Amino acid sequence: MDIYRTEGRGRLYNDIVETVGDTPCVRLNRTGPDHVSMFVKVESFNPLSSVKDRLALNIIESAEREGLLKPGQTVVEATSGNTGIGLAMVCAAKGYPLVITMAESFSIERRRLMRFLGAKVVLTPKEERGIGMYNTAKKLAEDNGWFFARQFENAANADIHESTTAREILSDFEGAALDYWVTGYGTGGTVTGVARALRSERPECKIILSEPHNATLLGSGLPQERNEDDSPKGSHPAWEPHVIQGWTPDFIPKVLQEGIDSAFFDEVRPVDGMKGMAMAQHLAAKEGILTGVSGGSTLTTAVEVAETAPEGSVILVMLPDTGERYLSTPLFEAIPAEMSEEEAALFASTR
Ligand code: PMP
Repeated sequence: MDIYRTEGRGRLYNDIVETVGDTPCVRLNRTGPDHVSMFVKVESFNPLSSVKDRLALNIIESAEREGLLKPGQTVVEATSGNTGIGLAMVCAAKGYPLVITMAESFSIERRRLMRFLGAKVVLTPKEERGIGMYNTAKKLAEDNGWFFARQFENAANADIHESTTAREILSDFEGAALDYWVTGYGTGGTVTGVARALRSERPECKIILSEPHNATLLGSGLPQERNEDDSPKGSHPAWEPHVIQGWTPDFIPKVLQEGIDSAFFDEVRPVDGMKGMAMAQHLAAKEGILTGVSGGSTLTTAVEVAETAPEGSVILVMLPDTGERYLSTPLFEAIPAEMSEEEAALFASTR
């Protein structure tokens, strides 16, 4: 077994940001119907444990290259968490102060992690939704001359998925079948960037996009109104609060709009986030793979696709982050901290 290899990684790393990307695609052995092969791309292998480390690095490095970000300048961003955690890692390693704006509804772990990494976290009222945290970041950037990362509009977002996430998939599946690729969307960076490459190099691969069943922004077919700077003009009418943190803000981001306009999705499927949570627990307990609610929801959609997929189909599923980021949330609500009767009996049997 190559787990016993001893050659290490064959290189030394100059800083933590060099370790971003190159995440593994892993076969599932106890999930989904027998007539298909399912793989997951495990983004928790990134240094700060989510897919957003990629975009955080590229937003900062492309701004450095373009002279938009000066040494020591403060970076500000609106984020549901994983982007902020990735940015906090990159900014810490490169010496930029960071201010994050985040709706108070996102998990406590996220806030504390960002602060632990040296960032400031400004909480915005949950009634103001995603747009409230976005407008707060925009105002702070304008008033203070800070660099606004603008993940929802920044071209560096989808670009990094085209040049890294997609290249990794193409390389790992070279010479092998790949019939379906399944993902969700937050900014849409993952789906837009990877789809650009899959459409041109693996055109046979069907791209399945999932969204919460009570926030079917794409499924509704209704367009998003935008301001001149591409930012959203008001909430999308189909949005409702949902339990899949990191997915589907209350507007269709500009980055995702490219995917819609280019017909990058063969199918958009709704998923119940509660089923996603149950699936995340199945994945942990039956496959030993820890992911969050969005990963569980993506996998739920993928298993539904698998049920009717032709014999021998190969399906790759994105798992955006780790389950550890949700210890204080409903994902872990049913998991007790105290001993069960069975556990207590085991203890008693030793006395
Ligand atoms: N899942 C989680 C947990 C996330 O934080 C994000 C990013 N907000 C996504 C999925 C979606 O990724 P993207 O922004 O590339 O669409």
